Formats: sequence, C-alpha cells, structure tokens
Amino acid sequence: MTACIFCKIVSNELHAKIVYRDEQVTAFRDIHPLAPVHILIIPNRHILSVNELTPEDEPLIGHLFTVARQLVKQEGIDKSGYRLIVNTGAHGGQTVFHLHLHLIGGQRMRHPMG
Ligand code: AMP
Repeated sequence: MTACIFCKIVSNELHAKIVYRDEQVTAFRDIHPLAPVHILIIPNRHILSVNELTPEDEPLIGHLFTVARQLVKQEGIDKSGYRLIVNTGAHGGQTVFHLHLHLIGGQRMRHPMG
C-alpha cells in the first residue's frame, strides 16, 4: 500500500478526472485549478522530484512533454499559450512528492514567475 496520493490516482484507488493515460504517464485535472485549464502530467512510476531523476529517465521526461503537447492541442490552448511548471522542494513550493508537470492555460497568466 502506498501513501502517495498520485500513486493512488495511477492505480485507480483515488478518483481523478483523468484526461490521458498510457503505460508511462497519467494526466488528470488539478483538484484546485489555477486557470480554466490546469492539468497535472505525472510519471506512473513513483519519482519524488526532479532531484531523483537519472539519465535513464530522459525518454520518460521527453514523453511527459510529448503528452503535454498533445493535451494543449486537445484543450485548444496551443495557439493562445500556456505554462508548464515543475515545482521542486520547499523553495519551489512542491506539496505533493511525486514528480508532476503542471500544464496551466486558458487565460493570460497574471503572476510573474518567482
Ligand atoms: P505542487 O504544489 O507543485 O506539489 O502541486 C501539487 C498539486 O496537486 C496542487 O496544484 C494540488 O491542487 C494538486 N492536487 C493535490 N491533490 C490532488 C488530487 N487528489 N487530485 C488532483 N490534484 C490534486
């Protein structure tokens, strides 16, 4: 049994609005959306953060971005623009310790980075 909420979403133990899934990654809508489109794209395998990535994970990370590209088209925000964000550690504001790529769009971003 895992305590990780994102692992539970991957294994269907916890409900989420899943928008994409394959053998490597799962994408689902953020429970507290910051914009009209707010999707989290995660590796199915538990990886705590960017700090735990290894060179062997390069294809997986590339795949996360390929899925992001697919989703921005699907959501109709490829032309208007969007942000892809990976929060890491305390200063980065990471609150869930399972690597995730935030895909945020559907409105002009109001907050400058930092
Ligand atoms: P971060 O602060 O970068 O670690 O982002 C974690 C994100 O996960 C936040 O935007 C939360 O709103 C989101 N989140 C937490 N629990 C869930 C959940 N059960 N389903 C969907 N999104 C979640």
